[in-house]
Amino acid sequence: MIGVQALEAEDRVIAEFFELFKIPWEFYRSGVPYDLVICSSRNMEQNSARVIVLYSSEATQFDDKTRGKLGSHSNVQLSYFGNLIPIYGRCLSFAGEANPLQIANGCGSAAREIQSGSQTIVRIGYDLFQEVGHLLQTGQPAVFGRFPTLELHIDYLRNLIVGHGITLFEIPPTPHGYNFTVCLTHDVDHFGIQNHCCDHTMLGFLGRAVFGSVVDLLRGKKAIRHIAANWWAVLSLPGVYLGIQKDFWQQLDRYVEIEKGLRSTFFILPQSDNPGRRVVGRVSKRRGAKYNLSQLRDQLLTLRQAGCEIGLHGIDAWVDEEKGRQELERIRDEINGLEVGVRMHWLYLDETSPQLLEKAGFSYDSTVGYNETVGYRAGTTQVFKPLNVGWLLELPMHVMDTALFYPAYMNLSPNEPSAIVDELVTNTQRFGGVLTVNWHDRSIAPERLWNGFYTGLLGNLRKRRAWFATAGDATAWFRKRRETVFESVSAEAGAAQLRVAPNPKDRALPGLKLRVCKPSSHPTNGAAGDRAEKQILDFPLENPGFVNVTI
Ligand SMILES: [Zn+2]
Repeated sequence: MIGVQALEAEDRVIAEFFELFKIPWEFYRSGVPYDLVICSSRNMEQNSARVIVLYSSEATQFDDKTRGKLGSHSNVQLSYFGNLIPIYGRCLSFAGEANPLQIANGCGSAAREIQSGSQTIVRIGYDLFQEVGHLLQTGQPAVFGRFPTLELHIDYLRNLIVGHGITLFEIPPTPHGYNFTVCLTHDVDHFGIQNHCCDHTMLGFLGRAVFGSVVDLLRGKKAIRHIAANWWAVLSLPGVYLGIQKDFWQQLDRYVEIEKGLRSTFFILPQSDNPGRRVVGRVSKRRGAKYNLSQLRDQLLTLRQAGCEIGLHGIDAWVDEEKGRQELERIRDEINGLEVGVRMHWLYLDETSPQLLEKAGFSYDSTVGYNETVGYRAGTTQVFKPLNVGWLLELPMHVMDTALFYPAYMNLSPNEPSAIVDELVTNTQRFGGVLTVNWHDRSIAPERLWNGFYTGLLGNLRKRRAWFATAGDATAWFRKRRETVFESVSAEAGAAQLRVAPNPKDRALPGLKLRVCKPSSHPTNGAAGDRAEKQILDFPLENPGFVNVTI
């Protein structure tokens, strides 16, 4: 068992951290014999644990006692075995230590180990739970978006525990039988160019399709066939407006064809001509949708028959509980369903939004992501619970088409995103969790024609044994993992007893698994251990109820 001794103010963030790093643990109680104690309080209580992991960015009693030479730094990145971890608070360095956890740019070690009798003390120079709280509440700036920072904190701590000879039982964020989870999502912002007669959107389309396509061709961003498709779309516009030709921006059912049973999630705006509001300042009129829910009815039916999910693309729900309730009811009426998730239009969100969304009745939100880049705003691949709510879960969004291709954002050519997105896929495969992709409704239509990269990405993900889940199913699986608890664990006996939560009502979800990380017979001393030096055993936890596992 692992005991956690911390400041009371950190209780919520610690509880959430150990939902993401799901191992047997408890808040420290005096007199209980722990294998390892994690301490973030400067006044560490004497205890008998074999290993103490002491996180703090300030000098501690322990440092005074051992007279360590300290340096204090801000805005640093830590490196260990090729990984880089951005630190957002302060970080101490320990002079003269050859620890694998190094502050980049040659500022020295950020950790050190002291042997005190039979006890090993690992002293780490930053505040883990403050870092985790910052990631979950404020998030990372876009410049560090590509770092799965929270997963790296977990990975470092896991290696440290196992590297010190302690067997670790864990329920990883990966469904049994799969390597990771993928959520394909689509924000429906336009649905039909016929709703945009002679407005800014239509004129923008004409400019980009006729002239922008040629510029893109010269820059190698589009091929001749794309120019032909765009010009043909322009020529067909009169027929579209007269209603005698198919509207080439109505592409929802084409996603069903492209995805071939992968069950994606469509976020639908609840109302037309409402740009919504901000807390301060005015909102551009362009934020308002031009389509009505009634126009989508046939396609929504097709989507639901294909197993897809319909959620709300919220307008004011992020800032107004009552408006959120009304927006939710509009979608609920349309889909005749009880559970509705939300992603805010233009990713509007502030620190009070999770509470407002929860009070309005949403089951999950999927707004935490970047407009301008791809990656991990909250530093995690996992579905998490925002710190100020009781029930609502957050499905972070990682890859958005407009971030990749818009000239004002990453401005990439059609094939350029492959390496960047591959890195994110590989991270999800390594750490588990979800890769959430957002491809807008008209992104596979003229003039964007971003379908080539999207279909290539689907092919790549299919090969990697991903569980393709709707946003609702992915969050339900994580809820089931959160509700599963360790009843007892005995590392010496190699046994664990767990109470596995049943599947949420009406949902057939993949099972969980228990992972046992056994130290090698030649444990590495040193702060981070060595990933190659441990044995990993997985056991399926497919049936609800009490489960006993012996290794
Ligand atoms: Zn939108």
